[in-house]
Amino acid sequence: MRMISKTQIDDAVIWAVANQKGGVGKTVTTVNLAAALSAMGKRVLVVDLDPQGSASNNLLSGGAGWGGVYGVMRGEIGAKEAVQKDQCAGIDVLAADEDLVAVEVELVGIVGREAVLAGRLEGIRRLYDYVVIDSPPTMGFLAINALVAADRVLVPIQCEYMALEGLTRLMATLDRVAALKGLERIKRMYVLTMYDQRTNLSSDVVREVREHLGGEVAKTMIPRAIKVAEAPGFGRTVLDHDPWGAASLAYRVLAEEVANVSRS
Ligand code: ADP
Ligand code: MG
Repeated sequence: MRMISKTQIDDAVIWAVANQKGGVGKTVTTVNLAAALSAMGKRVLVVDLDPQGSASNNLLSGGAGWGGVYGVMRGEIGAKEAVQKDQCAGIDVLAADEDLVAVEVELVGIVGREAVLAGRLEGIRRLYDYVVIDSPPTMGFLAINALVAADRVLVPIQCEYMALEGLTRLMATLDRVAALKGLERIKRMYVLTMYDQRTNLSSDVVREVREHLGGEVAKTMIPRAIKVAEAPGFGRTVLDHDPWGAASLAYRVLAEEVANVSRS
């Protein structure tokens, strides 16, 4: 496997937002964490590594359109050339569309296939303070590439029954990625999403998750809010769509937490 070069001090900190469960808030968290970091004056790149392209659709009006992360992974275009600009939030985007499904098969024979994305991002990470990677709801080639490319992993956990289900598998995958990278452990932060303060269920889940995962759980919880689900329909982040709402506030506080741990 290709050696991943040591991070320079002024290189972007790369976060992968990952959980193989679908619908837990990965994409919403990617987009709004990125928007909140950008609002803090940070230079932010979002890499959409989900062939569903939801983050791209949210951030770029008219969707991915051209280029994007598919060509970058295939080595046809440089990451810098493939970047598109989000008009509203000032975020750069390496977009995805359904073509990305094919890349797993197309890159099947190559050596170090888990580190393809890591290699492709090397040249541009010094242009940003943060790179946030959205990942698909499966633990295949793309998600592994996201984890290998990342310095840290942000795991959204939805406040629902069986919230911890599947996490053991995710943790095992993180251990495997740590071994690949020659690290003892992948640094991570869990964040509770879709918290509903009116229900006992949410508070039960919070207690359980904090009991099991302790200090690695973000203090901020993302509340369930209708504006969150609405925002992509307007082509906006939640921070643009409902700047003073509880979810926007929560994503801003999460961004502070993320920024604070990023250099530790
Ligand atoms: P994933 O990327 O993990 O599949 P998404 O970010 O797409 O999950 O979220 C799944 C669904 O839940 C989406 O329809 C999204 O709009 C909704 N959602 C996510 N977070 C919230 C929230 N805080 N409040 C209300 N709806 C939310
Ligand atoms: Mg998603």
